[in-house]
Amino acid sequence: MKHFPIFMAIEGRRIVLSGGGDAALAKLRLLMKTQGHITVFASAPAAEIEDWAEAGKLTLIHRALEPGDAMCAALFYAANEDDVEDARVRRLAQADGALANVVDNLQDSQFITPAIVDRDPVTIAIGTEGAAPVLARAIKRDLEEALPARLGTLARIGKAFRHAADALPFGATRREFWSDYYFNAGPKALSDGEEAVRPALDRLLHAHLNKDSRTGFVDFVGAGPGDPDLLTMKARRALDKADVVLYDRLVAPEILELARREAVMIETGKSGFGPSMKQETITALIVDHAQQGSHVVRLKSGDPSVFGRLDEEVDALETHGIAYTIVPGITAASGAAAAMGRSLTRRGKNSALRVLTGHDIDGFADHDWAALARPGSVAAIYMGKRASRFVQGRLMMFGGDPATPVTIVENVSRADQHIIQTTLSALPDATAALTGPAVLLYGLAPRDAIAATLDLEAHA
Ligand code: SAH
Repeated sequence: MKHFPIFMAIEGRRIVLSGGGDAALAKLRLLMKTQGHITVFASAPAAEIEDWAEAGKLTLIHRALEPGDAMCAALFYAANEDDVEDARVRRLAQADGALANVVDNLQDSQFITPAIVDRDPVTIAIGTEGAAPVLARAIKRDLEEALPARLGTLARIGKAFRHAADALPFGATRREFWSDYYFNAGPKALSDGEEAVRPALDRLLHAHLNKDSRTGFVDFVGAGPGDPDLLTMKARRALDKADVVLYDRLVAPEILELARREAVMIETGKSGFGPSMKQETITALIVDHAQQGSHVVRLKSGDPSVFGRLDEEVDALETHGIAYTIVPGITAASGAAAAMGRSLTRRGKNSALRVLTGHDIDGFADHDWAALARPGSVAAIYMGKRASRFVQGRLMMFGGDPATPVTIVENVSRADQHIIQTTLSALPDATAALTGPAVLLYGLAPRDAIAATLDLEAHA
């Protein structure tokens, strides 16, 4: 992070801008939303600036900036659209002690102005360190659409109620109250008019004060194969609200970043059947935290119902009478199929898909090898790296064709995703160099166009 975002107290402070053309107009429109005192220096200001000065929105001085003009200014903008003049006024303003920005000149600016979504007092600032203004604008547009225009009103009324809400115990209980207000009771009341909001807040507080002591609950959440864009909305919301997150080692760091900042993060260390916390320890932790009233998110890679020992954890919750939900995720095989450009089933070719593990608690896992070895069968093999020689041996023993295509997709959907196209006969060699999690798709080759790019990579 080369630029650190902060919100500056600007009420009553000086903001000085040099320039009177289009760039100045654009900045002034933004700056006039603040409660700062704006002074503009321009020898030939645009008509709008004259109007704003007349309306008392800013002070206009009809000349170029001189030494001392930016004295005591908190912020200074050089918006002359003239490199030489901008450089001159920037030096003057900095000598006067102001923090200076040169419009469209990242290099010479001490700060940059983000794209802003304004729901005052809720303000969202979006910055890309100058790298992608187009992206910042697109994000701004999305947020503008997503956030109710009247969010600001709710926030203002809510702010005046903060003191009253302090009657609720600090932490999860108070958070629940506010979340109920902003996402449920508040918007509902507001649709009956602004004056309905305060009484609704009173009622809501009363209800929350009289609630039984809080009971915790657990969301089992599928984190998908790695790309945060593959999370479901429900997964995002659960992470947003979590008090405690228990996550498997395979969950991508970018996804952990999305958990509520105050959430307690606990790594359970489970990755396939590698070294890990004992299952009983994990289960006990989930139960403990939920019994203390926490909102626990049990985050599992891919889909929680696929080789995730979900049933064991759910059973424990039922025994203790703890409420839970299950949020499905995209399993590694689905992500791998997408990367290969293939579907997992195909009309007239394979009407079944087997999902199997190379390993289970007892070691290499046994399967109906004869059925798998039959031409046309397709299987997604999880935890198959170390078992690849065993799997190959069994399939060949049961008559599997050595030329059967096998595709290995490592680090599905992550930046370091890697597709390896091989055959049953070469499978053990192909898995030898893998370092990341990988899923094997037996009986499937990547689509030709994708295979061609793999060849190019291999020969590069
Ligand atoms: N619940 C997970 C599977 C957990 S078992 C799911 O639905 O995907 C762990 C195995 O899943 C790994 O050994 C590997 O075979 C597979 N796996 C998990 N994440 C993966 C990823 N990003 N890329 C490739 N394989 C992955």
